[in-house]
Amino acid sequence: MENRVLSDRVLNITASVTLAITNKAREMKKSGIEVISFGAGEPDFDTPSYIKAGAKRALDEGFTKYTATSGFLELRSVICDKLLKENNLSYKPNQIIVSNGAKHALFNALFSLCNPWDEVIVFSPYWVTYIDQIKMSGAVPVVVETEKNNGFRIDFTKFEERITDKTKIIIINSPNNPTGVVYSLDELKEIARIAKKYNLYVISDEIYEKVVYSKKHISIASLDDDIKNRTIVINGFSKSFSMTGWRIGYLATSNNNIASAVNKVQSHMTSNANSIAQKAAFTALSHDCDFDFNAIISKFLSKRNYIVKELNSMSLISCSEPDGAFYAFPDISKCFGKKYKGRLIKDDLDFCEVLLEEKKVAVVPGSAFGDKNFIRLSYALSFEDMLNGISRIEDFCNNLE
Ligand code: PMP
Ligand code: GLU
Repeated sequence: MENRVLSDRVLNITASVTLAITNKAREMKKSGIEVISFGAGEPDFDTPSYIKAGAKRALDEGFTKYTATSGFLELRSVICDKLLKENNLSYKPNQIIVSNGAKHALFNALFSLCNPWDEVIVFSPYWVTYIDQIKMSGAVPVVVETEKNNGFRIDFTKFEERITDKTKIIIINSPNNPTGVVYSLDELKEIARIAKKYNLYVISDEIYEKVVYSKKHISIASLDDDIKNRTIVINGFSKSFSMTGWRIGYLATSNNNIASAVNKVQSHMTSNANSIAQKAAFTALSHDCDFDFNAIISKFLSKRNYIVKELNSMSLISCSEPDGAFYAFPDISKCFGKKYKGRLIKDDLDFCEVLLEEKKVAVVPGSAFGDKNFIRLSYALSFEDMLNGISRIEDFCNNLE
């Protein structure tokens, strides 16, 4: 009887590891333990005050009722303006669907496009949620590995070999979580060429577009009309405006059938995203002169430089330099087989567990992103916490024997 309680669909997925670790660190902190969390990727600055003022105005003006399922029109219009100005992408407001975070937008896209057994290509290391959302939508994830030795760049021969007659979608994520890779124009052109050749759709997750250091973010959908018509752009407010808790993300598609399918799905699942958060997002985009993201970027850049240098100074760890996002993704495989105070570190899971219990430092195991030789550290935390956390990791590694 017991084994009939849960659906096969749910038994086939695991909870988000990034969120689980962050929750664990939060609980430890609440109980008085001084934990340093390199867990969830969440900017450490507060939501800018002009955005909060927009939300307060929404409350005072009684903007507290249902909106259009896909978001109120003025918000979708300013999203269109942003996509045109910043990404060279022209959409109409009815081609934008605002959802409860980019995570929800991504799910809506997969759920609307996938039939059971369709194959969806994902490049590893990948953001943890892609695999489980693909499974939740009934489709099959097909992982194409990228290697640290090759700078985590796509091996296009290997990629093309994995395409079958069941392949329907390619998910790309540039800047990438967790590797920080930012695809070049040539790489995007090659992905586009393959998508056209095999008649595939592309889901392009551009949530970290603003967090780039030396390279420029380019949306694959901006290359030409053909690739634009087969691409669903995913973006949101969590990272660019430090609005993780407000839960506003969106998708953009020039395929009106996809737009109305996603609208239909969302109309039955959640209706509109929270109206007050929508007004806050509207304010974020329509008063951009108040907020200078460059100042944030220069802070992220100095943290990136510090963390990568420090990790590479540890003899058991090596870390490549990310071009974007705010994660370091070091190789820790040289620690495997060693012991900390008698506790064996077999793999990344042991490394993370022993580090958390013994040193009170939370990091995410690489296996959540498809590669168990690594761990992920979000460096979107205060400089002080980062210094403290890194010195604890160094001490941990120095005492492995
Ligand atoms: N895509 C990637 C690659 C992410 O790391 C995240 C996590 N914030 C999301 C999408 C979802 O962001 P949100 O749901 O907070 O908008
Ligand atoms: N996307 C962030 C991360 O990868 C936040 C947590 C989550 O939604 O997975 O850590």
